[in-house]
Amino acid sequence: MLKTAFLAAAMLLALAAPARAAWTIEHVTVIDGTGAAAKSDMTVVIEGARIARVVPSAIAGPPSGEVIDGRGKYLIPGMMDVHIHLAGWKGEKRADGTPVVDHAVAEAALASYIYDGFTTVVDVGNQPENSLYERGLERARKIQSPRIFATGNLITYPGSHGDAMAIRISDFEKDKALLDRHIAEQQPDILKLTYDEEGWGARPMITLMPQPLLHQIIQYYNEHGIRTTVHVSSERRSIEAIYAGADTLAHPVIQGPVSDSFVKLMAAKKIPFATTLTIGENYSRLVEHPEFLDTPDYVAAFSPADREEMKTRVREAWKARPWTWWMKLMTPICKENVRKVVVAGGVAALGTDQSSGPAAHREMELLVQAGLTPAQVIRIATHNGAVFLGKADDMGSVEEGKLADLVLLTADPLADIDNTRAIALVMKNGRIIDESALPLAGGPMKRRYSGR
Ligand SMILES: [Zn+2]
Repeated sequence: MLKTAFLAAAMLLALAAPARAAWTIEHVTVIDGTGAAAKSDMTVVIEGARIARVVPSAIAGPPSGEVIDGRGKYLIPGMMDVHIHLAGWKGEKRADGTPVVDHAVAEAALASYIYDGFTTVVDVGNQPENSLYERGLERARKIQSPRIFATGNLITYPGSHGDAMAIRISDFEKDKALLDRHIAEQQPDILKLTYDEEGWGARPMITLMPQPLLHQIIQYYNEHGIRTTVHVSSERRSIEAIYAGADTLAHPVIQGPVSDSFVKLMAAKKIPFATTLTIGENYSRLVEHPEFLDTPDYVAAFSPADREEMKTRVREAWKARPWTWWMKLMTPICKENVRKVVVAGGVAALGTDQSSGPAAHREMELLVQAGLTPAQVIRIATHNGAVFLGKADDMGSVEEGKLADLVLLTADPLADIDNTRAIALVMKNGRIIDESALPLAGGPMKRRYSGR
């Protein structure tokens, strides 16, 4: 009892303590996230929440603060997933219409991200009682979590894609008050709109937001300083969304192969898009290879009961769904669409459309399978996430002045992308994460960093 109270007090203190003055990581190979070549034998100094210096160790001079030996290790920026829907709301609502949310489920999912080296997540559509509640806790430093950026509710046309988590807008002038309320009450970091009439694969046609309305809403949010991301799935609607002013796209084209002109347009415009390969692939993966749930990162991220349910009830349900097999067929086409746009100079940012650290690592594997190099994929998973958010001046790379969100690896991620799982320590905001204090669904883990 006393021990529990002491531990709880120690955990509170650890969360409340000011950032350590300084860390110096010496003799480390830096992969800075911008696409620049890896630099060996570097010294990285972190002061407070930011990276103060990145210099060759030969000229670094005496270290400041606590020294971390980076010999044989690799330093990358904290990774980012720019398309998540945080777990914790399963679609249930009370009689009064308020959603039933489980904060413990949400916080376990957030823990899985930071445990896996993801220091930023972007929730692009959720109940505010879930995503915005956790964003508030994260910003008040009350939970150990990645940085959370969130849209709150998404916005759609009545009856269109994503209706269940949406504010429904049918007319700009008539419904403007709803937009004002969304901005004032939810303070979205980015707005999510959906622009998709479906009618492909196993999905029937639904209504589509008129393009002029899409344009009006995007402009209105931009005038409030808010960037936008638009859910699209076809090439045609992607182009229309871009010319309606979309700042980013929430998916690659997944309905069919892209045209050469679309590839050129994406390279010319440099509109960031979230990669979201794993959402389509995860259904057939579970049916055909459920053993992936027994790998260490899934065992850490999910409870034994959840993994058992996935292997039995969920697997049977997904096996019977046409959508599973449609998406298995379309995944190679979608991979090729992503590869073509990236190789042409377009801006992909890692997104999963899911809610766990292991899913984000799966996304990196799929991007390499698509034909991208690990160097390209690391850029997609770090710097480009910051570009997607419009925050590349502040975060997403190992450069002087940037926020100290960092992952130290024990093996070379350029040799094998799975080495982004070989984590020696995760740092967010200049603080080393204590894994033993993370509320992982798979149970407590040992602290990785053995220094003070
Ligand atoms: Zn989504």
